[in-house]
Amino acid sequence: MKVPKILILGAGYGGLMTAKGLQKHLRPGEAEVTLVNQNSYHYITTKLHEPAAGTSHHDHARLSILSVIHPHRVNFIQDQVTSINTETKEVTLKDQSEPLSYDYLVIGLGSAPETFGIKGLLENAFFIRSIDSVRMIREHMEYMFSRYAEEKKDELITIVVGGAGFTGIEYVGELVDRMPELCREYDIPLEKVRIVNVEAAPTVLPGFDSDLVSYATDYLKNKGVEFHINTPIAECTHEGVILKGGEEIKAATVVWTGGVRGNKIVEDAGIETMRGRVKVDGQLRAPGHEEIFIIGDSSLVFPSENERPYPPTAQIATQQGQFLGKNLVSLIRDGKMDTFAYHAKGTVASLGRKEAIGIVGKNSKLMGMKASLMKKIIELRWLYLLGGISLVLRKGKF
Ligand code: FAD
Repeated sequence: MKVPKILILGAGYGGLMTAKGLQKHLRPGEAEVTLVNQNSYHYITTKLHEPAAGTSHHDHARLSILSVIHPHRVNFIQDQVTSINTETKEVTLKDQSEPLSYDYLVIGLGSAPETFGIKGLLENAFFIRSIDSVRMIREHMEYMFSRYAEEKKDELITIVVGGAGFTGIEYVGELVDRMPELCREYDIPLEKVRIVNVEAAPTVLPGFDSDLVSYATDYLKNKGVEFHINTPIAECTHEGVILKGGEEIKAATVVWTGGVRGNKIVEDAGIETMRGRVKVDGQLRAPGHEEIFIIGDSSLVFPSENERPYPPTAQIATQQGQFLGKNLVSLIRDGKMDTFAYHAKGTVASLGRKEAIGIVGKNSKLMGMKASLMKKIIELRWLYLLGGISLVLRKGKF
């Protein structure tokens, strides 16, 4: 009998969890599993704001894929996916002359920045989205600070963060922690530095509990962060940003965190999308494609017909990966699959190393050190899921 080929694209939260599940549940020879990722490492996206601010080294936010995957059970290919042909059931990679064929395809290629058509953003802003991108942000910011000693231009030590959602607030919190040390290093008075957070929505952290939002904004304002809320960015230039209404904020460093859309490769494959993301069915399949599963930031899961979709998070991507890791096995064995159900366990946003806010379970609010401890536990849990206690001891930061 022909051995089915399962091809997983992307070793993020969703893809890696799928591969781990298949590695555990499939019997030897039951299916041929291949995982493709553009880097040899998995990056822990939920920690990328730390190296972007320079509060931790980027190696703390990545781990080798081969350290958590069994090469006899999952064939790992480091390469970039360039296209998917859903007709011939083939995937083309940048450095391989022959395309890879599949019987089942799992797409977990993550997201791309959503710029909402803001002029100049793609060309002039930085994005927190990979190890390469955060290394660039940190080095650029430090170089700007080093130039200040000679040039004394205020824009060199002004940082604009576009977006006050989860990523924006976590990054601003991290910058607040980093500034005292950075200013000491470059002999800059701390009060001269400007960290400006600009948000188009009427509130910081839209959708979050209002007490927690107040706690976060009060904490960050006390640390000197300026907020421009209800203020869309009209344009990003090489000199900074222009706000709707005309005000210009000159800044040598602009970091956009204002939204994500699905990976373009999915759209280009002719799969039906909404802002680049695919509304999947109960089994996480793409519409009209029984053999294609979409997980993580490229997928859209609705709690019910009339509600908004769940936001793209590592939490849902992980649960989708765990679901597929079991259900693809049962599909192969007896043609059956369960229906995916998301269990929200809460959300915690860090405000630097020692502060955070969060909701745990249904409605338990946490702030300050307790929330920060919870955030660390969540990070350690991810390492545990991937590589057990040995990975926690090797990579965990307490
Ligand atoms: P990703 O984890 O983004 O992985 C996609 C993978 O695909 C990557 O390895 C990438 O290299 C690879 N890839 C992409 N394109 C190609 C290609 N063409 N060829 C080959 N490989 C490719 N969520 C939470 O739940 N809690 C949090 O606290 C939280 N904090 C966050 C903080 C920050 C700073 C950011 C940026 C995000 C945060 N999120 C958080 C959101 C969360 O990180 C994402 O929702 C999650 O990473 C999505 O997982 P994924 O599996 O879809 O994709």
